[in-house]
Parts: sequence; structure tokens; C-alpha cells
Amino acid sequence: MIPYGRQEITRADVDAVTEVLRSDFLTQGPAVPKFERSIADYCGVRHVVAVNSATSALHLACLALGVGSGSRVWTSPISFVASANCARFCGAAVDFVDVEADTGNMSASALSEKLEQAAKEGLLPHVVIPVHLAGLPCDMRAIHELARRYSFRVIEDASHAVGAKYLDTLVGSCRFSDITVFSFHPVKVITAGEGGAASTNDPALAQTMSLLRSHGITRDAAEMSGAPEGAWYYEQLALGFNYRLTDLHAALGNSQLQRLNCYVARRHSIATRYDCAFSRLPVALPARRSERHSAFHLYAIRLNDASLRQRVFDRLRSDGVGVNVHYIPIHRQPYYRGLGFRQGQFPVAEDLYSRSISLPMFPALTDEQQDHVIALVSGALEEA
Ligand SMILES: *Cc1c(COP(=O)(O)O)cnc(C)c1O
Repeated sequence: MIPYGRQEITRADVDAVTEVLRSDFLTQGPAVPKFERSIADYCGVRHVVAVNSATSALHLACLALGVGSGSRVWTSPISFVASANCARFCGAAVDFVDVEADTGNMSASALSEKLEQAAKEGLLPHVVIPVHLAGLPCDMRAIHELARRYSFRVIEDASHAVGAKYLDTLVGSCRFSDITVFSFHPVKVITAGEGGAASTNDPALAQTMSLLRSHGITRDAAEMSGAPEGAWYYEQLALGFNYRLTDLHAALGNSQLQRLNCYVARRHSIATRYDCAFSRLPVALPARRSERHSAFHLYAIRLNDASLRQRVFDRLRSDGVGVNVHYIPIHRQPYYRGLGFRQGQFPVAEDLYSRSISLPMFPALTDEQQDHVIALVSGALEEA
């Protein structure tokens, strides 16, 4: 089976993890702050808080921005469920903004219209979470402009977009947002096994997220309510979690980060090769935008209709190609239907879902494997 995505583990990765295994600290040692510093330097951002998943990072980001029961959080329906669940963890109400037909990213014009309506009803969101689908950054300048006008905060779900650029600035720099979240799950652009991170330029947000990552406990005398009672002393200042990344994971992530630029370049050459091969077929290729450099976490084509998608999907799966679909619109999940969402509510997202198919895209994909995928897609389309 050729999967749609998979990690690449090198000798350097194995050595980095082995070194931690032989060291004094498996967790809460030096590898986590080192990884955080490397991400911060890479992205050009002041603070990075590494955690055990992007889901945890999204949760902490919401909490740091004051999301709670009574808050409203808007995100994209075309994403992994965690983009919306993070608001539900905090007791907030979730709503969705329909997407652009070609990129699948949150549409800034749909957002603008929805905000105008919400302003009239006094139901403006507190936080909006755009998702950089497949690694292509959203229209962050427009979203940032709306954030200023309507006073909401912005969390970028950049789980797909580690190494992507927007207006020549790396995603994660938070130039147009309060917090950016990355995922280091093995199918993503770089991996830590499991892992995530939140970046921000706001020291108070960083401090809250690091506190909540580890039970809400501090050992820093400056943060305590009173004088420490001894060297053993710590204080729990808030109700936090154990969302810590281990040193093993951080060492793997840091080792992978050294190859991030190579990985993104390799993903671009795979994408260009697919683009050329499919240019004369009746399929829509992944959208490109000037001034946005995708990380190409995914390579998804859109077919003319749902039945064709089904045929192509089944054909490739039966021939050993692990194609996938990104994503089932979140509002169609039974859990969200139970909250009152209905099918047909976000028509562009639903249409995109019905026609998309994600093809294998990962650095170790060989030309032979890619040719096999191309031949199967072309064959399935000819049969149709
Ligand atoms: C993978 C993913 C997440 C969750 O990442 P984890 O690290 O697995 O928690 C969140 N949002 C999006 C868009 C994702 O693709």
C-alpha cells in the first residue's frame, strides 16, 4: 500500500532520540526548550510552547485567549474535528464559516458577511480559527483586518502548514494572528511521533499556555502568591493539564526540523509533477496563490462530481494506493448535528468534500510510485 502520507525517519533522528534515552531526562529535560527555541528561531516568533499534540495546543490557545462558556468560536468546516473541538473543551459555542471553492480555506468574504450579520444580532465571535488547509495559508491579511474591525482574536490552525510562507513570512510568525498552532503527528510535514506547539509574540499568552500545559503549577518564585517555603515549594495557580511533550518526542521533532526546508521543497516538486501529469485531465488541481508558499502537506484534486470521486477512490484503494478524503465537513459529524447543525448549511464545503481526493504526498514517495498513482488516476478517469 502506498499511503497518502508518511513520515521519514533518518539515522540522525534515531541518534537524537537514542541520545535522550541514554541521558538523565526522558521528560522535563533540556530537549523541550531546545525544540521550542529552534521553532521560534525558524518562524521568527518570540515564544513557542511545545505540547503533546496540536489538539492540546488548540485547547491551551483557546483558554489563554479567555474562551469559556458563553464564548463564541468560529472555524472552518473543512478541517479535522480538533479545530472545532478545542472550543467545545472550554464550553464555548462553535460555528463555522464557509470556505473558498478552490482552496478549501475559510473564505474571508463569507467571514465578512457573517460578521456583519452577527454584529447586528450582538453575536460576534470572540475567537476565529482559520485553518491553512493542505498547507496553503489562508487570506490572513483580510482576516486580520476583520479581526481589528470586529475585535475578535485569531488562532491559526497551522497543523498542515509548518514551513509554509505568507507574504514572505513564515507561518508561525503570528504577524496576522494572536497564536499559531502546529502539529507534529507522523502524517504531517515534520513529526515528533506525537506533538504540537503554539507560537505567539505575546509573553502573557505564552506564560498562560506554559502554566496550563503542566497542571497550572509554577516553580518560579516571581509567579507565586507568596514567598516560597523552601526549595521543594511549588504553587498551583490555575487548573491545568498534563499536556507536556516528552524529551524523546522533542528530540525527534528538533532533528526533523533541520530537514523542514528540504521536505517542503521535495513536496513542491512532487506537486509540480502531479500538476503536469494531470494538466490535460478533467480534474481541478490544488489552487495556488501568489505570495503564498504552501507546505503541501496534502495534494488533493477535485473531480467533476461525487460519483466520479467514488469510482476513482475505489479504483485506487483496490490497487493498493491509500488515497483519502480531507475532510468530512465537521458540522456533518453526529456530535455536531447533535448541537443543531444540519446538512446543507455550508454548501461550498459540502460540495468540495463530495469531489475531493487526496493523493499520496510525502518526501519519500518515489517517481515510480508517483507514476503508478498517476496512471491509475488517468485510467480511472478514462473508464468513466
Ligand atoms: C492533525 C490536525 C490537528 C490535530 O493534530 P494532533 O497533533 O493530532 O492533535 C488539528 N487540526 C488539523 C487541521 C489537523 O490536520
